[in-house]
Amino acid sequence: MDIDLARTWVQAIAAAVDQHKDHLTQLDSAIGDADHGINMQRGFSAATAALAGLEPDTVGAVLVKTGTTLISTVGGASGPLYGGAFRAIGKPLDAPTVTPGQFAAALADGLASVRKLGAAAPGDKTMIDAYAPALAAFQQQVDAGADLAAAALAAADAAENGMRATTPMQARKGRASYLGARSIGHQDPGATSTALIFRALAETAVA
Ligand code: ADP
Ligand code: MG
Ligand code: MG
Repeated sequence: MDIDLARTWVQAIAAAVDQHKDHLTQLDSAIGDADHGINMQRGFSAATAALAGLEPDTVGAVLVKTGTTLISTVGGASGPLYGGAFRAIGKPLDAPTVTPGQFAAALADGLASVRKLGAAAPGDKTMIDAYAPALAAFQQQVDAGADLAAAALAAADAAENGMRATTPMQARKGRASYLGARSIGHQDPGATSTALIFRALAETAVA
């Protein structure tokens, strides 16, 4: 992973979020307040704009700037959660190029940030249910000697499986938890955007 790839990843997330905005909002209207699409679009278009004016000299600078921008532009729960995650991912990546192993460790820091801030666990029907299996798949590939593209493809597939697995769960964190058992039967919006983020990474790394 290098600076250009990190920037292209954030741009690819912004494009995916634009494309899937209505779907994210539709999912959030079933079990939340119908703003996840607009929250994600606002945050990632602001991040893309912020990066256009930045001359980063490390991978981390790109991702920390992305996180800071998400925190300052997104009002919903997802803003601080994703913002904190991107800041945590960027923080250790203090070089113009980083290895897949270093990136895996940084992704683990990102998940730890989400878990610390949101106090949710796997199975609570949140973005963690896509992020945790994605990270595990990424790490497993890296441990087996895979390159970034192969690891990211496995992570994207695992994130999408995790996203689908949120449908039968009852939400225990976030707005959806207010619905209790009525949250069952709906796919989690944040797990869905997390799957978009990992798919964007895979598409960027493969290209
Ligand atoms: P809000 O719920 O404030 O309107 P969004 O709609 O942008 O924010 O994001 C909702 C998503 O945030 C949920 O679908 C869920 O995946 C995620 N989320 C909410 N609370 C938490 C939490 N405590 N920990 C992890 N993820 C959470
Ligand atoms: Mg919402
Ligand atoms: Mg909201």
